[in-house]
Amino acid sequence: MVVGDIVTSTDVFILGAGPGGYVAALRAAELGLDVTLVESARAGGVCLQQGCIPSKAFIQAADEYHRALRLGEIGLPLAAPAPVDLAGLVTWKDGVVDKLTQGVTQLLKARDVHVVHGRGEFLSRQSAAVDTSEGRQAFHFRFGVIATGSHARSLPELPADGTRILMPRHLLSLRELPEHLVVVGGGYIGIELGVALRKLGAEVTVVEAGSGILPGIDADLAEVAVRRLGDLGITVRLGSRPTGWEERMGRLAVHLETGGGAQTLQASHVLVAVGRDPQSAGIGLEALGLVGDDGGVHVDAQLRTSTAGIFAIGDVTGAPMLAHRASHQGIVAAEVIAGRSAAFDPASVPAVVYGDPELAWAGLTETEARLQGYSVETARFPMRALGRSLAGRSPEGLTKLVYDADAGVILGGGVAGGHASDLIAEVALALEMGATLEDMAATVHAHPTFSEAWQEAALLGLGSPIHTATRIRPR
Ligand code: NAD
Repeated sequence: MVVGDIVTSTDVFILGAGPGGYVAALRAAELGLDVTLVESARAGGVCLQQGCIPSKAFIQAADEYHRALRLGEIGLPLAAPAPVDLAGLVTWKDGVVDKLTQGVTQLLKARDVHVVHGRGEFLSRQSAAVDTSEGRQAFHFRFGVIATGSHARSLPELPADGTRILMPRHLLSLRELPEHLVVVGGGYIGIELGVALRKLGAEVTVVEAGSGILPGIDADLAEVAVRRLGDLGITVRLGSRPTGWEERMGRLAVHLETGGGAQTLQASHVLVAVGRDPQSAGIGLEALGLVGDDGGVHVDAQLRTSTAGIFAIGDVTGAPMLAHRASHQGIVAAEVIAGRSAAFDPASVPAVVYGDPELAWAGLTETEARLQGYSVETARFPMRALGRSLAGRSPEGLTKLVYDADAGVILGGGVAGGHASDLIAEVALALEMGATLEDMAATVHAHPTFSEAWQEAALLGLGSPIHTATRIRPR
């Protein structure tokens, strides 16, 4: 390949316009730097184009449909529904993605970020090339930022064809509802999409290699979601992994290896959701003297790699692969590049599973806190004791606070229940501020709200519960 004679100089060259890269670009431009942002697809990355946002639109729609079908239970029966129009849902979902994509594009334009559409690679620690529709363009930069994200892990036993054997992005663009979906992987994506498809009317079977679904989450929280899967009619096969598939009379026969021997499941579609890997191949890492293994590109608290002037942010730096982590890292990297004192050292990176009910947690889990040698106590408050939760048709679940037994300092918190994805922000703020149970209990929470479940859990931990009958000696 020949790089043209014209070389564009820029302060900051960012490869990848996902929630890490585009946020870094906005912040760097705001701080007065000249920024070039390279992206081969539309701005927003996997999160906006294929993952977080389209899946949340899908999940929201499925939940509303499922709830509407049950309005008869509260005296508001609807006429028999028409069949699900998945193509209509997908069109609406695409519209949501389009609006947000336009928003990101306008923001980048407003801050004078130079967006280059094409596939880029680093050639050295101060130069890069981008293959665009108008040819190969050369860049010289002072600082480089690797923000190339991650890609869905595939299974050689079930190679995706995009029509019947699907990766998550394929599933979110199906035009017809699968009759029977086999979901391989009982992690975030498998559970979120499995629940959504079930609510729309598909038969769903989850095949998970491990001994439980949603690994890493405290058992008492995960249990709520597991119970609900059963209520929804989703079958879970634990300790099972696929070994291959074949076509039988127009359907898929998916062969499994299980603790009880070989078994076969019939399906119309299969979704493969077995994790993600950092996207570090084909971007010129070698030219930078860096290696990208399964754990991703290594960085310090300022997001610097071991190569001077080169930073890395987001999923390409390994787990946890979460959009909000990437965006925060992007802001820190931009500020460090601009000469400010900044570090990525959050008290917590909250995590959410948009299943039914939603699960969310921040800080240390109970297991982690014990392993780290804290003298740990926990307080749990059941959602069914909340007025808002019952009136909101979300009676399942609980809030759980994990705290230091001596000082009552909050170490972590988790919630299974309606609005968990928003509720977890209170724990994240508590952790950043080093809050205690007293702080949380003394904060006036609006009534009736789901958020009261934190105040009640804190009161329980202090030995002065109000809306539970538990008799406890006050601290
Ligand atoms: P995951 O790591 O959450 O779960 C993958 C699951 O697949 C695990 O339980 C694993 O045991 C199982 N598995 C692996 N190989 C298997 C096999 N051969 N057969 C059966 N089971 C197998 O991965 P994911 O659900 O693909 O999600 C990837 C990442 O994307 C997550 O770790 C998360 O960082 C991110 N994500 C976040 C959200 C969110 O924030 N709400 C949503 C979706 C994805």
